[in-house]
Amino acid sequence: MSRKRVLITGAAGFLGSHLCDRFIAEGCHVIGMDNLITGDMANIEHLMPLENFEFYHHDVSKFVHVSGELDYILHFASPASPIDYLKIPIQTLKVGSLGIHNLLGLAKEKNARVLIASTSEVYGDPHVHPQPESYWGNVNPVGPRGVYDEAKRFQEAMTMAYHTYHGLETRIVRIFNTYGPRMRLNDGRVLPAFIGQALRGEDLTVFGDGSQTRSFCYVDDLVEGIYRLLLSDCAEPVNVGNPDEITIGEFAEEIIKLTGTTQKVIYQDLPTDDPKQRRPDIAKAKEILGWEPKVSREEGLKITYEYFRSLPEEKLFKREH
Ligand code: NAD
Ligand code: UDP
Repeated sequence: MSRKRVLITGAAGFLGSHLCDRFIAEGCHVIGMDNLITGDMANIEHLMPLENFEFYHHDVSKFVHVSGELDYILHFASPASPIDYLKIPIQTLKVGSLGIHNLLGLAKEKNARVLIASTSEVYGDPHVHPQPESYWGNVNPVGPRGVYDEAKRFQEAMTMAYHTYHGLETRIVRIFNTYGPRMRLNDGRVLPAFIGQALRGEDLTVFGDGSQTRSFCYVDDLVEGIYRLLLSDCAEPVNVGNPDEITIGEFAEEIIKLTGTTQKVIYQDLPTDDPKQRRPDIAKAKEILGWEPKVSREEGLKITYEYFRSLPEEKLFKREH
């Protein structure tokens, strides 16, 4: 049987690079595409010498051409951390709109199955808790986070339209806060922020009073859920995340304990429209995919901390914002 050919956009990013590893391990031919706007070639340098890996340096918001056949397209290109998408708001809107249009067009031409990375942010600051896929969300379209949330909502609508009107095979994964090795230390997300602060001997910055909640999923669990969803026949959106919910204040205490830092917590203003609570309802993933997370936060945090500790000093002290 010939090798499956897979296009992964956002390949040099955190999640994209782990997906490349998984599909290579499954014996596929992987084409990674990235414009490196928030990614890092270091995440995929180990794949570059492989004959079943190719890398295209390309902005997917511009016309996308790939030679040869494609079985699967996984669209993960997009700025993903609040600091990133607030810094590059127009590119964020473009990759979620023009980018997905280009990729769906490519999928139609190649008769490929498409899986898109959507997000828990489609639920906005949710009034329903935990969030099931049937909840339509509470998003402020013109607030600062609107550039990301609305791009992702549009991306879902466009994907569903290609499924309904063109019969394209599509999958939509709604990803909840995921962490692990290869996150960018300075991307502003809470886990790299806290661990970076602990490693640099700085105080940990909790935004607001720290009572807002998140539910953190280890990257290997997420990748397994995505892989199963791709191979399933479910075109409806599916939540993939870890329902183990924690307040950000408690999370800061866990990082202090993990790293052994003697620094303290300091409080800063809560960003506009920061969701107050977030926890996935994963009943659908359990039923349809037979999936649930396996890695505890304690275990996942240890692995991630070791990764950040092993980074060269220049990465630890690199300031981006
Ligand atoms: P990341 O910033 O590490 O990776 C995104 C990658 O996309 C980067 O390598 C970046 O250079 C690339 N990219 C951005 N715009 C591009 C464009 N126009 N053309 C080509 N490449 C482009 O972020 P991540 O955490 O790996 O997120 C990956 C995807 O998963 C995103 O779509 C994000 O919205 C989604 N997601 C992530 C999380 C999470 O917790 N990590 C949660 C929900 C959704
Ligand atoms: N957060 C924080 N300190 C930081 C960075 C983030 O308290 O240095 C908070 C942020 O306000 C939010 C939570 O941590 O309530 C998760 O933020 P992140 O940017 O990781 O993800 P998202 O808000 O997209 O879930």
